[in-house]
Amino acid sequence: MRKKIVAGNWKMNTLPAEGVELAKGVVAGRGEVCSCVNFIVCPPFTHLAMVAEALKGSDIELGAQNCAAEAKGAYTGEVAASMIAALGCKYVILGHSERRQYYGETSATLNKKMEQAYANGLTPIYCVGENLDEREAGKHFDVVKAQIEEVVYNLSEEQFKNLVIAYEPVWAIGTGKTATADQAQEIHAYIRKVLAEKFGAAAAECPILYGGSCKPANAAEIFAKEDVDGGLIGGAALKAEDFLAIGKGFQK
Ligand code: PEP
Repeated sequence: MRKKIVAGNWKMNTLPAEGVELAKGVVAGRGEVCSCVNFIVCPPFTHLAMVAEALKGSDIELGAQNCAAEAKGAYTGEVAASMIAALGCKYVILGHSERRQYYGETSATLNKKMEQAYANGLTPIYCVGENLDEREAGKHFDVVKAQIEEVVYNLSEEQFKNLVIAYEPVWAIGTGKTATADQAQEIHAYIRKVLAEKFGAAAAECPILYGGSCKPANAAEIFAKEDVDGGLIGGAALKAEDFLAIGKGFQK
């Protein structure tokens, strides 16, 4: 049985006090959603300690949106995986398309970040996905395959057991355009096949989340697909009610 996961990527939104309110709202409504759903919230670094406090006593887990590629030292402005782990994070989002696109993150950088995450007991939520040109040119399978081969294939079998993948087509992120449930299933099944080529049967246990304009109105249809194990949610994670309603999309 794969984990069902609904993870919220708050991106660079909310002030700390607003983040705490949002987290409290998720905690308050959590009981209305099946306990089989694992909720994760990923606030900005600056909010982590306060949000960790707000989540105390609940089963909602904490993640960060990024971590440094190095362990510590003279890297002004960076935040080490050990630091976010010390604040209570269990997860870290790595390879989000915004980090690849705006901050030049390459597979080489991501390999180092993955190592830092594992060295500090964090589970990476590793994002893959094609842009619109690549989708229109029919290259989406090759793009995600390369993103997996260049990073995930470097993991040990033990590390792979603690990995979450998020498939996020760049053309669907924050655009209101969502992949259809069939498009999501097609590529999720493909991702699982690529994972199985390296990790065998363990690929069947790896949660693969869909991300890209996922909202209460479309979550149930997407989550119903066999290889979709939940969602990485951006915009709709900023309202507790919507975030929780997405969790209610699980009917399997
Ligand atoms: C994301 O950036 O991870 C994301 C899925 O964003 P949105 O839900 O806003 O498209």
